[in-house]
Amino acid sequence: MSETIITTSAQKVPESVSPATARGYKMDKQGAQNISMGNPTPYPIPTFDDPYRKREWMLEHMAGAFRVFGRRGFGEGSAGHITVRDPVNPSTFWINPLGTHFSLMKASDMVQVDLDGNIIGGNTSAPINAAGFAIHSALYKRRPEVNAACHTHSVYGKAYSAFGKPLEMLNQDSCVFYKNQAVYNDFGGVAVEKKEGENVAKAADGVQSVILRNHGLMTAGTTVDEAAYLFTLMERTCQCQLLADAAENEGKKKIIIGDEEAAYCHFIDCDPESLFLEFGVGLNYEIAMDDSFMTFTNSRKFNRTP
Ligand SMILES: [Zn+2]
Repeated sequence: MSETIITTSAQKVPESVSPATARGYKMDKQGAQNISMGNPTPYPIPTFDDPYRKREWMLEHMAGAFRVFGRRGFGEGSAGHITVRDPVNPSTFWINPLGTHFSLMKASDMVQVDLDGNIIGGNTSAPINAAGFAIHSALYKRRPEVNAACHTHSVYGKAYSAFGKPLEMLNQDSCVFYKNQAVYNDFGGVAVEKKEGENVAKAADGVQSVILRNHGLMTAGTTVDEAAYLFTLMERTCQCQLLADAAENEGKKKIIIGDEEAAYCHFIDCDPESLFLEFGVGLNYEIAMDDSFMTFTNSRKFNRTP
């Protein structure tokens, strides 16, 4: 039964290649400085003394992540959820209301729920997705380091999930998922049952990205920005994989990136700071187009006395 669950190793960098590749390329310190030079990066991860202020910031980024997902067409009816662990009460988390289009989501729409399923704050009049609660509550129980998770029924993730196979290291960007992905290969139906949610969460042990066979993708991170960027990247990596697989079926031969190079790319590109920076690009585009999802910031702005 659960023998079919495949979980890849959580090992980030094989000992054989650390702390440098055979070419001498160093893997000594992770962070945005590896991909930036000249001046400070535009989107550093802020710190907060006040957890309530952090909560507002986090909810605005959560709503921004939905706007990014909406623009990319990840919505499928009412399916899909992004959740974020509450910084004030970490045994609770925030989830989107059921039935609101990703592109209409605002920070003030989000619903706070405890790990028993009680709605305790935020938009308390809204229903939430039962499967979303089952999966994400199990994940937050199992993984204290996880603060955010994303799951939608995006097209390429759904299509590639049918194979029940991990992504191949086809290009530099794929390597973010090097030894950082798992396949939940034991699809048991819509995850409204507690047990199915627990099985999905268990399949994600030690990694940030999961292909849920016959279902879609799920990602997790220390910030919602990190989880959301991993999601957009994983969806597009599934698209690349399907394109490459189709071309291979026409007679072209794929060249897969070697372990050492894949580990190096993963080291450079896949850390909380770098992934936060990557997501900032899409998030700030959304802010520039329509910042109505920034409800707390806007409320402060408009209430300011001259
Ligand atoms: Zn789903």
